[in-house]
Amino acid sequence: MSKLGQPLSDEKWQAIIQNDASCDDKFIYAVESTGIFCRPSCKSRVPKREHVRIFDNTQQALAASFRPCKRCKPMSGPLPEEEWVEQIAGYIDAHYSEKLTLGTLAGMCHGSPYHLHRTFKRVKGVTPAFYILQTRIDKASEYLQKTDKAISEIALRVGMGSTSYFITVFKKMKGQTPAEYREKSTTMNSSEVLNYENDK
Ligand SMILES: [Zn+2]
Repeated sequence: MSKLGQPLSDEKWQAIIQNDASCDDKFIYAVESTGIFCRPSCKSRVPKREHVRIFDNTQQALAASFRPCKRCKPMSGPLPEEEWVEQIAGYIDAHYSEKLTLGTLAGMCHGSPYHLHRTFKRVKGVTPAFYILQTRIDKASEYLQKTDKAISEIALRVGMGSTSYFITVFKKMKGQTPAEYREKSTTMNSSEVLNYENDK
């Protein structure tokens, strides 16, 4: 019975002691004395090292008759770290028009800027800074297509105070200036209307 699970490496033991959420998708640990298994990030009391058993996943721990911890709920929902990143992305989606820095975001979500940067990139594939720009440029494209607001006003509305900076970033990401983008989408729309009328 005591031989169940994998050997506990120093690395995994450190992850457990430090509640390292970045290991939540790598392994789970069970505690023999309590019969409960947890994610590495679980904030519950650190068990005695000799009582810890390591498993690849929750199924293995269940098969070995351990029960999921009620605190870190290893059986349910997305990993805490992914959830965290989704919350931050949601915050960016809602606040893209405001001044957003890595420091603001980190403060808002109680993490260090470095950890946020690294984790965000791992989960989303892009850095928070790039994600913010992407969100802003997407919003700006919408404004350009659907409204006749001045480009300087659009820049302001998507949280980019400087119009020239906005134009530079827009061109870099879309391959054309905001004015060109607007002109193109307007022409496209009117030619669609034209074709539609011709079909009749
Ligand atoms: Zn737990």
